[in-house]
Amino acid sequence: MSSAAAANYDVLIVGAGIVGAACALACAKSGLRTAVVERNQIGGGASAAGMGHLVVLDGSEPEFALCNRSQELWRQLQPELPASAEYSTAGTLWVADDAEEMSEAERKHAYLAERGLPAQLLDSRAVADAEPHLRKGLAGGLLVPRDATVFPPVVAAYLLQKAQALGTQILLGKTITQLADGEARLADGRTLRAPRLVNAAGADAPFCTPGLPINKRKGHLAITDRYPDLLRHQVVELGYMKSAHSLTADSVACNLQPRITGQVLIGSSRQFGIDDPAVEQAMLGRMLRRGLYFLPALAQCNIVRTWTGFRAATPDKLPLIGPVPGDSTLWLATGHEGLGITTSLATAELLASAFCGAEPPIPAEPYLPARIFAAQSTHASAAPAAEAQL
Ligand SMILES: Cc1cc2nc3c(=O)[nH]c(=O)nc-3n(C[C@H](O)[C@H](O)[C@H](O)COP(=O)(O)OP(=O)(O)OC[C@H]3O[C@@H](n4cnc5c(N)ncnc54)[C@H](O)[C@@H]3O)c2cc1C
Repeated sequence: MSSAAAANYDVLIVGAGIVGAACALACAKSGLRTAVVERNQIGGGASAAGMGHLVVLDGSEPEFALCNRSQELWRQLQPELPASAEYSTAGTLWVADDAEEMSEAERKHAYLAERGLPAQLLDSRAVADAEPHLRKGLAGGLLVPRDATVFPPVVAAYLLQKAQALGTQILLGKTITQLADGEARLADGRTLRAPRLVNAAGADAPFCTPGLPINKRKGHLAITDRYPDLLRHQVVELGYMKSAHSLTADSVACNLQPRITGQVLIGSSRQFGIDDPAVEQAMLGRMLRRGLYFLPALAQCNIVRTWTGFRAATPDKLPLIGPVPGDSTLWLATGHEGLGITTSLATAELLASAFCGAEPPIPAEPYLPARIFAAQSTHASAAPAAEAQL
């Protein structure tokens, strides 16, 4: 930033999804003069498309740590959330289709128990008691009672409303075209200045920060009419982790969520390399058949809406939270793939701690963007062809 130009804010955040909203509130609470710039509406990107499952995944220690810390923060936030945020602590029921998946349930149970998280292994009969409408003969499952669900766009709006009460400015209908060196260029030609710029633009983060290794990962969802007695827990097949952590193949996995309205939200699919948001009947059909396999009663249900959204995927499946090497003003809070609702609050906490020089509650290193840029330059010098495949 040129020394002659005065800063408009201490922190300027691009994107009013749940991540940008959470970051804005954390910064405002730390006493920083904060602004959020959003091209569309609050919580209208992936945060409106996603399932809102607040889940602790354990694909790696850093993934677990971020989810776990964030869930603590969600539990602290819950009492003050409006009813329209639809916070519900239904818990997750991971279901095992066969003995191999049951051994994954046992591994997960041991992993969570070692870290002090409650979870309960269920045999075939206990799964049927917990969820009477699931297919008969499942091998068993794992009930994780602390997992919850929310309606993310309402939470994003709530967090920003609180930030606004602390002085945060929200600029809606404004697109940022460039973000670097303490300056944010707007499409209308204006320039806003801040010593800290935060790219929280989700899957579109590379538009403002060219070269960022974020890939769009398309997902389909469907929601039924109201069937209040059909489902009690978020039901996820144990094969879900294979689908979520594959970096190349298109995949579907059964992920069913009972909404407070009595509707059932049906996910999920993953596709790379597609920018078109249109619902694809073939992929939707695959996803629905997977749901139907585990919950045969879906065959009698009306689907009232189908849609898609884009996850922001990084090459190593961890988000990018922290400064960009080479530009001390530019920070990232993106790349949360299928966990950004869950991990938004801990992301914001990490960012605000760094801005204020405070000790973060969990180590920040695993999420620092420097790891990706270092990997990129290694790939570029050692094997250019490999980088092209990322
Ligand atoms: C199908 C699906 C299911 C999911 N299910 C879950 C789940 O159950 N649990 C979970 O934790 N996560 C889930 N996710 C992931 C979660 O939705 C995302 O990780 C999260 O919403 C990311 O939030 P965000 O604020 O980073 O991005 P977004 O919500 O996409 O917000 C980014 C914002 O930036 C704005 N923007 C972009 N570029 C610019 C620009 N140049 N100028 C101004 N504004 C800009 C956009 O308009 C947008 O509003 C799911 C995602 C999908 C697609």
